[in-house]
Amino acid sequence: MNLSERDRQYLWHPYTQHKTATAPVAVTKGEGALLWDENGKEYIDAIASWWVNPFGHSNLFIANAIYKQLTTLEHVLFGGFTHEPAVILSEKLMAILPKNQQKIFFSDNGSTAVEVAIKVALQYFFNKGEKRTTIIAFENAFHGDTFAAMAASGISFYTQAFSGMFIDVVRIPVPVKGSEKVCFDAMRDVIKSHNCAGFLFEPLVQGAAGMVMYEAESLDELISICKENNVITIADEVMTGFGKTGKNFACDYLQQQPDVMCLSKALTGGTIPMAITTFTQDLFDGFYSDDINKALFHGHTFTANPTGCAAALASLELLETVVMQDNIQRVNKSHLAFQNHIQNHPKVTTTRVLGVIFALEVKIESEESYYGNMRTKLYNFFIEKGVILRPVGNIVYILPPYIITDEQLQKVYAIVEEALEIV
Ligand SMILES: *Cc1c(COP(=O)(O)O)cnc(C)c1O
Repeated sequence: MNLSERDRQYLWHPYTQHKTATAPVAVTKGEGALLWDENGKEYIDAIASWWVNPFGHSNLFIANAIYKQLTTLEHVLFGGFTHEPAVILSEKLMAILPKNQQKIFFSDNGSTAVEVAIKVALQYFFNKGEKRTTIIAFENAFHGDTFAAMAASGISFYTQAFSGMFIDVVRIPVPVKGSEKVCFDAMRDVIKSHNCAGFLFEPLVQGAAGMVMYEAESLDELISICKENNVITIADEVMTGFGKTGKNFACDYLQQQPDVMCLSKALTGGTIPMAITTFTQDLFDGFYSDDINKALFHGHTFTANPTGCAAALASLELLETVVMQDNIQRVNKSHLAFQNHIQNHPKVTTTRVLGVIFALEVKIESEESYYGNMRTKLYNFFIEKGVILRPVGNIVYILPPYIITDEQLQKVYAIVEEALEIV
């Protein structure tokens, strides 16, 4: 039996209905933007393995940093202890984060980064003796699969089994073109009618919703409204962080600065699971007290794992090189040219580009084709052609590693264009 067949006996995959799913592709090797399966078939990883891998698979620079750390100090608990990789990483991050960010808290993945942000927002007001328990979030948001993160997520089939078991979340519309005023009004209404602790959002791009985009000015307005009302603003940059939008962080497009930022995907260049939640001094001070009960009683066994920190440091170093910044611009220009080429295609309703992110919506004839057939047909077509793309319903998006070659990128575009003929 090959790996793909042996997998079936014991393994349970994420987001998978095992009764109807096709067998998983067994990947044995990766290099740059390419992956190979156990039969030697080559794939272009055009979604950077769920948006985590900007610098290419099996990156030797990061691998060497990890090896060096593993053979120096692989791990030590972070309660009562610290170490150089965490200290240096905090210093390096502070240099590129918005100026108001002053404290960083480690966890293991995007969901926990969000979980920590929500807990801090809620406990901040609890510590002050102020009753604020509602979190404001966008419709169709995705913030992860742990409980508070899931409560804030608006994609119903992910969360419907757990409705009624969540923290208080009130949803407002996304300020996409034409909906700005409705969104601002909804924000003001929610703040008036609820005891709001925080506003959690994916800045500028809602990844899991299908790379839905909105303008920085709108987010500035929403953050301003929150600031006027002392509502903590939480930017979930788990997807957008580390260059995806063309700047280090999506929040770098803003005039306003959020109080909290969540980082994970791409933090370690797609090597070691790790996440960071960053905070303003004021939020940290809300826990700083002679009263032990005011501390943040949250932690994970592998908090600030030194090997993860070393991987993150190597990744940051790569991100900051001129070569990598040029790669981001090159991919962006290439996307814009493809957008120009494809946007008037009769099967395309709309296209979007920001940084290395490209998305197009395929025209749908009937509602029923939306989540079922079209998505499956497209996905299977791409896999057959050796390109890894995971459409969201009728939305096809590309989010490649920054180091993808022009030739590979052109191949991805050609196959996306070809796919329009089969739907
Ligand atoms: C992926 C994602 C998460 C969840 O991260 P995990 O590492 O999968 O837990 C949270 N927020 C956003 C915006 C994401 O894209």
